Amino acid sequence: PSSQQIALQATGLTKDFRGFRAVDNVDLTVVAGGVHALVGPNGAGKTTLFNLLSGFLTPTAGTITVRGEDVTGLQPEQIAHKGVARSFQITSLFENLKPREHVELALQSRTSLGRRFWRSEKIMRQFRPRADELLAEVGLSHLAEKPAGELAYGQKRALEMALVLALDPAIMLLDEPTAGMGIEDVTRTIELVKRIAVGRTVVFVDHNMHVVGSLADRVTVLQQGKVLAEGSYEEVRRDPRVITAYLGE
Ligand code: ADP
Repeated sequence: PSSQQIALQATGLTKDFRGFRAVDNVDLTVVAGGVHALVGPNGAGKTTLFNLLSGFLTPTAGTITVRGEDVTGLQPEQIAHKGVARSFQITSLFENLKPREHVELALQSRTSLGRRFWRSEKIMRQFRPRADELLAEVGLSHLAEKPAGELAYGQKRALEMALVLALDPAIMLLDEPTAGMGIEDVTRTIELVKRIAVGRTVVFVDHNMHVVGSLADRVTVLQQGKVLAEGSYEEVRRDPRVITAYLGE
């Protein structure tokens, strides 16, 4: 792909933790508009790679570019400004705050009002129409007024997706979007990610191969911090090295 077609690129990316190399010389090219999965056995370095790409960790070596621009070493907020936003596996919602209020706050946080939490009714009201659109997009319209603490697990994860969407990122990094979900929530999440991916670039980590096969047009397999294989889902799942890596888990 040409440089304009590349949304996100890592070159020689390496991360050491006190002498232990968790990510080892990884090259990764994420095509703009694509849905790219990171998979691999436990301990393969997926989470560390995700944290590097989103600025939550600083690489020991290597570079990261977003649409051709070097973002290596930038803070998470600065990387978010470049259009990269990530979700977290662990929910970080306010128990007493309603879904609509969560989304309004997230929308407000990216305006010139900055990060100050002005929870003035008047200011928040201007974000309501967009907040309601986002709640509809993730299937939570009917729960807009219920305290987040009372939502079911899958609904909390959907709300977190709305909070990432509120930042309107060109590139979304989703950390195990279906982790811990039952089959119904998994199916719902697959459909949601398909909708989100229209006009966006998505990179996600998931252990569920059904999810990977349903969503990803490109898959990178990591093992012991290194890229073991890369290709379409069909290509990598037939790769003998990949089969061995998974059976050896
Ligand atoms: P995955 O997400 O693929 O399961 P991780 O990126 O979480 O893998 O971990 C890769 C390796 O790096 C593991 O062996 C893990 O123990 C190690 N590791 C991750 N974070 C740290 C850390 N902060 N300090 C030391 N070792 C770490």
